[in-house]
Amino acid sequence: MCCVFHASLTGSFESSKMRLRELFGSSRPVLSIEMFPPKTPAGDVAVKESLQRLLQYSPGFISCTYGAGGSTQERTLWWCEQILSELGCPAMAHFTCVGANREQLEDWLDRAVSAGVQNIMALRGDAPQGQDEFRAVTGGLSYANELVELIRNRHPDLGIGVAGYPEKHLEAATAEEDLQNLKRKVDSGADAVFTQLFFSNECFLRFRERYDAAGITVPLVPGIMPITDYARIQKITAMCGTAVPADLSERLQAAQDDPDQQFRIGVEFAVTQCQQLINEGVPGIHFYALNRSAACEEILSSLDLTAHGD
Ligand SMILES: Cc1cc2nc3c(=O)[nH]c(=O)nc-3n(C[C@H](O)[C@H](O)[C@H](O)COP(=O)(O)OP(=O)(O)OC[C@H]3O[C@@H](n4cnc5c(N)ncnc54)[C@H](O)[C@@H]3O)c2cc1C
Repeated sequence: MCCVFHASLTGSFESSKMRLRELFGSSRPVLSIEMFPPKTPAGDVAVKESLQRLLQYSPGFISCTYGAGGSTQERTLWWCEQILSELGCPAMAHFTCVGANREQLEDWLDRAVSAGVQNIMALRGDAPQGQDEFRAVTGGLSYANELVELIRNRHPDLGIGVAGYPEKHLEAATAEEDLQNLKRKVDSGADAVFTQLFFSNECFLRFRERYDAAGITVPLVPGIMPITDYARIQKITAMCGTAVPADLSERLQAAQDDPDQQFRIGVEFAVTQCQQLINEGVPGIHFYALNRSAACEEILSSLDLTAHGD
């Protein structure tokens, strides 16, 4: 199989001003990589090296998460600056409503724009530890659609991504209600939807049918997390409500004492999953890379993106 993410490296420099609307206007699928700010300077160096290796696949942008409870505000901005200036890649800053009133949200947004950030992933966020459910602070926002509205009004040109849930958000009473809430975010001005991680393409494709039927027309980008460590993936999927297909789970269980074999199974599964999605014409793939490059490199070097849109 050929590798089609091998576009020119200089391309990523030229496109370093690109916003979501421009990125998804191109005919080839947009690769994006999600990272989170490490806790130590040594971690920063290691993550930068990992991202540098992934640049050969010409990601459309690299996104940096905003820590749970709003804990990495400064680090998220610092990392976006690094992505822009040191890696020469468009950046997306994740941003949540947690623990901040409107004024504070606007202040952070202004700083993100001054730092050159072109795209924001607008999220509500989860309840901080110790709180049983999400509650807006006084003068703050309750749902992501309000954040999208705030961003669109204050910085009309910013690219805005939002989260979508093929297996339904854990708090939503029904899948239909969740879809209508997703539509609110798009109607408020979001440019693209990035999904929660999932392992069942059937589930994603059913969700896409309902998404289309609801009249949502912005790009729907699947979120893929390569499995490299079964214990870790069990924790993550339990937290976000993603199902691991029984056959995959059994194979990983059988390899629980063999990290190399778990890695192999995870990469092989992700290659098949991504290739099927590309064949189904998805507009891009958002990789939850967990700050490591090895699995993504193997996956990306195996994919044939020319199948896109066939
Ligand atoms: C791609 C992606 C990136 C993420 N990045 C981060 C990150 O960097 N930092 C972080 O802390 N978390 C992150 N998360 C997790 C996210 O914060 C949680 O999933 C959170 O629980 C919901 O956020 P949301 O933006 O989807 O919320 P919302 O869209 O506000 O939805 C939350 C719940 O409320 C319901 N709802 C939405 N709008 C309304 C409304 N107007 N009225 C009534 N009900 C409504 C929805 O159906 C849903 O059940 C990410 C998730 C994804 C998929």
